[in-house]
Amino acid sequence: KIEQRIDEVSLLSQKYPPVKFLSEKDRKRILITGGAGFVGSHLTDKLMMDGHEVTVVDNFFTGRKRNVEHWIGHENFELINHDVVEPLYIEVDQIYHLASPASPPNYMYNPIKTLKTNTIGTLNMLGLAKRVGARLLLASTSEVYGDPEVHPQNEEYWGHVNPIGPRACYDEGKRVAETMCYAYMKQEGVEVRVARIFNTFGSRMHMNDGRVVSNFILQALQGEPLTVRVPSRLFILCPFPHLLGNPEEHTILEFARLIKSLVVSRSQIQFLPEAQDDPQRRRPDIRKAKMMLGWEPVVPLEEGLNKTIQYFSRELEHQANNQYI
Ligand code: NAD
Ligand code: UDP
Ligand code: UDP
Repeated sequence: KIEQRIDEVSLLSQKYPPVKFLSEKDRKRILITGGAGFVGSHLTDKLMMDGHEVTVVDNFFTGRKRNVEHWIGHENFELINHDVVEPLYIEVDQIYHLASPASPPNYMYNPIKTLKTNTIGTLNMLGLAKRVGARLLLASTSEVYGDPEVHPQNEEYWGHVNPIGPRACYDEGKRVAETMCYAYMKQEGVEVRVARIFNTFGSRMHMNDGRVVSNFILQALQGEPLTVRVPSRLFILCPFPHLLGNPEEHTILEFARLIKSLVVSRSQIQFLPEAQDDPQRRRPDIRKAKMMLGWEPVVPLEEGLNKTIQYFSRELEHQANNQYI
C-alpha cells in the first residue's frame, strides 16, 4: 500500500506544480470564492503549494478555468461552478471571499449583479462561515474610500463615497460587505479579516479588464494610442481593516510613458476627458500592515510591469494563433 502511495505521489509531482506535504492536523480545507480570477488563482497556487485542500468557487463572469487548469484533477483541488448569490453548503476551515467583479467596466456592466454579489454573496459566505466555524477573509478595496479627502489613506479613515454615482454599486457594495463582516464578528463570533487591496496588476489579469495597466500595456503592444484620462489621478499599486498596496506614487501620465518605454512601443499618448467620480488621488498608508502583519510590497514596479507585459504578449500570440476563444 505504501509503495502504491509513493507511486501516486510521484505521478502527481510530475503532472502538477510541486506541493508540500502537510500532516492532516496542519492541512486546512480552504474555500476561495472568485478563485478562477486574477488574484484568486495566484492565491490558489500559494495555498495548494503549501499543501492545503483548496475548493475554488467561481461563476466565471470574469474568471477563467485556464487560470487554475494546472490543478484540475489534483486530489487536493476542486473547482465548483457556482454563483455566490446562491447559498452554498460545504464543509471548510477557512474562506477567502474574493468573488466580485473588480474593474470599473466590469462592475459597471451590471450594477445590480455587482450589488447582489457583494451583499447577498457576502451574507451567504458569512452564513457558511458561521455554520462551520470558519475564519473568513474579505477582499475589500481602496474604493471604499471613494474620492478620498485624506491622503494617504489609513485604516481609520471612513471615506468619501458618492452613494448614487456610477461607481456606487461596487464602492457601497464593498462597504456593506465590510459592515456585514464586522456584524457577524460582533453578533455571531465569526472570525473575520478584511484586506483593502489597492489597484493591483500582474499575470492572469484579464486583458480586457479595462483598468489602467492592462489598457496601457495592450495599447502599447498593439501600437494604439495610450488613453490618459485628464485630470488623472496619482496612481498607486496594489492594506485592514488592513491596507495592502505599494506606497510609491506616480501620475497616470508617468505610467503611460513608463509602459510605452518598457514595451518599446511607438504608440502615441492620447488625452481623454476625466471619468465621472474618478478618485483624484490614492495612496495606502501601509505602516500598520507592516507593523502588525510584517507585510510590504516586494516586487519593484518595473519588474512587475515587465512580467505583466510578457504575460500579455503571450496572450496576444495565443489569440493570434486562435488557441483560445
Ligand atoms: P477578477 O475579475 O479577476 O476575479 C474575480 C472573480 O470573481 C472572477 O473569477 C469572477 O468570475 C468571480 N465572480 C464574480 N462574481 C461572482 C459571483 N457572483 N459568484 C462567483 N464568482 C464570481 O478580479 P481580481 O482582480 O482577481 O479581484 C479579486 C477580488 O479582489 C475582488 O473581490 C476585487 O473586488 C478585489 N480587489 C481587486 C483589486 C485589484 O486591483 N485587482 C483591487 C481591490 C480589490
Ligand atoms: N448560508 C449558506 N451556507 C451555509 C449557511 C448559510 O449559504 O452553510 C446562507 C443562508 O442561505 C443564509 C445566509 O447564509 O441566507 C446567512 O446565514 P445565517 O445563518 O446568518 O442567516 P439565516 O439563515 O438565519 O437567515
Ligand atoms: N485611467 C486612464 N486611462 C485608462 C484607464 C484608466 O487614464 O485607459 C485612469 C483612471 O481615470 C484612474 C486611474 O487610471 O484615474 C486608475 O483607474 P483604473 O480603471 O485602473 O482603476 P481604479 O483604481 O479606478 O479601480
